[in-house]
Amino acid sequence: MECGTIGWSMWRKSLDKPIRIALIPGDGVGGEVMAEALPCLEWARSRGRSLEASPFPYGAEHYLATGETISNVAFDELRDGYDAILFGAVGDPRIPDGRHAEAILLRIRQGLELTVNFRPCRQPSPQTQMPDLDLEVFRENTEGPYCLQGSTEPGRAVDFAIHTEPAVRRLLEAAFRRAEVRNLSLTLAHKANVLKHGHGLWVRVFEDLRKTHPGVAARAMHADALLCALVQDPTAFGVIAADNYLGDLISDLCAAFIGGMGVAPSLSWAPHRPFRCTVLAEPVHGSAPDIAGKGLANPVGMLLSTALLFRHLGWEPEAKEVESAVARALEAGAKTRDLGGTLGTAAMGTAIRSCLPH
Ligand code: ATP
Repeated sequence: MECGTIGWSMWRKSLDKPIRIALIPGDGVGGEVMAEALPCLEWARSRGRSLEASPFPYGAEHYLATGETISNVAFDELRDGYDAILFGAVGDPRIPDGRHAEAILLRIRQGLELTVNFRPCRQPSPQTQMPDLDLEVFRENTEGPYCLQGSTEPGRAVDFAIHTEPAVRRLLEAAFRRAEVRNLSLTLAHKANVLKHGHGLWVRVFEDLRKTHPGVAARAMHADALLCALVQDPTAFGVIAADNYLGDLISDLCAAFIGGMGVAPSLSWAPHRPFRCTVLAEPVHGSAPDIAGKGLANPVGMLLSTALLFRHLGWEPEAKEVESAVARALEAGAKTRDLGGTLGTAAMGTAIRSCLPH
């Protein structure tokens, strides 16, 4: 299977070399949660997986010191020399307009054409109130209103939203195929009743793909009605596909069903470039300045993102082991403050690692 179907093949830029992973901890809690993912890479290596990990400094500190976000040379290196990027988070109160964060994250997502942002939403441990929850959000990751084009004028502000058919089709095709493979329903979130042009395109492509995937129980829903239904019964949904903006909102809401921002993982890829895409694994959460530097961040989202990366690389046993180590640690009562526990970031990471086989 090619990159983008999440059955996911073993692929790499060069077959005879180790998997190369670029580490970008970024800002705030990004570095704290990244520190807990690194031993997992080491653990995978100790099991015979061939990988090399190299740190990159991009983030607020680097920007404030050098004025550089990601240089063209560094971007080319990430694109051509690495199989994957493991990313923490960006955003720093010292740069309140977030220009460095935009430049770094959007450069990576847009520059690498990482159209598909996959955000699974399953309970990280079976001891939960919603064990049947099996939701997966497919968020378009490069366009929509997050294209950052617009203007602020006296008394008037404009944000454009760009939706292109190739990106919409790529995202929806990935969502349909995932729904097909997993026998889940598929719901498109849109507001084509108001956003007639952009979301009209989404609905047209969705209807088109529905014909080529007759086995998928697919429906398009107005996003407001969808949110209401989602809150009432999240277990009634399978795959949810949405543009960048709605996907951002819906997936943060979905994170709340499984314990909050600290536990939600994501993986992004470019389905149209199966053998050349540098994938991006990052937790759903941001840099969380309110808790940064206090050792309070939950590393689960980061570790589950690492598991998604392992699965993408074809390292299914390691992906499963990391996921089940998270589940076992939680079942044993290891919890950070956001989950009602008392552990700090490092202690939570240690508790999870102690559940990995040696
Ligand atoms: P972005 O737009 O960059 O995604 P955001 O505005 O959604 O960021 P976050 O940084 O994700 O904001 O933080 C939202 C809330 O979730 C904050 O209260 C933060 O403390 C909490 N949070 C985020 N990450 C974690 C984490 N790893 N562990 C515990 N709480 C977290």
